[in-house]
Amino acid sequence: MQDNHAEARRSLLAELDAEVAETARWLGVARLDAAVRDAIAMVPRHEFVPRWEWPHAWENRPLAIGHNQTISQPYIVAAMTQMLRLEPGARVLEIGTGCGYQAAVLACVAAEVWSVERIPELAEAAAARLARLGYANVHVRRGDGALGWPEAAPFDGILVTAAARDIPPDLVDQLAPGGRMVVPVGPGGREQVLTLVTRDKAGHIGIEPGLPVAFVPLITDR
Ligand code: SAH
Repeated sequence: MQDNHAEARRSLLAELDAEVAETARWLGVARLDAAVRDAIAMVPRHEFVPRWEWPHAWENRPLAIGHNQTISQPYIVAAMTQMLRLEPGARVLEIGTGCGYQAAVLACVAAEVWSVERIPELAEAAAARLARLGYANVHVRRGDGALGWPEAAPFDGILVTAAARDIPPDLVDQLAPGGRMVVPVGPGGREQVLTLVTRDKAGHIGIEPGLPVAFVPLITDR
């Protein structure tokens, strides 16, 4: 099958390599792990955006997906996935499925992914899209992600892809020993701090503020 996006994919990967090297002090590495880089190369980003955005699907920027929501910038997806340091057998929770792009990337580097989305239409569309594209190891449900997915916990990695005012305590509880959570902390729509939360084998929680980012808000009743 001809890949109409081949050139765009190549230039996106070159751009990501340069941006990762520039931000190495935040990411703790100067290069993406091969598994993360391959996932970005393989997941067909154009399938996750509306038709009219196809010409821009492989650009390194967020795009509108309807319902006032966005598909995240590829660099941010790569950076957050990298920060989780996932092993191939990892069980991962994502909060804020949106179109399902980040979930697909996680599905390539982890064993199983659970993803929670607040907006019913987005949750349904993402679940159908991920199934159609063959990502059989992703489970999507509608709900308040601040509550996590307790029945499937604990998780080796948790990614929050919406801005939380504070680190959601239920998510910290659902982190496995040795697990890592990446969450943008701060007011939605303005600059937030991408924060790494770790639970060590003894159960101690570590919190490290990092990269400045801009996400839509996490909307929770909690
Ligand atoms: N992960 C997406 C980007 C998500 S944008 C990607 O791969 O591109 C943030 C998403 O979080 C939106 O779809 C928004 O509806 C959702 N969201 C906001 N608050 C939420 C909450 N409390 N629980 C679950 N999802 C939430």
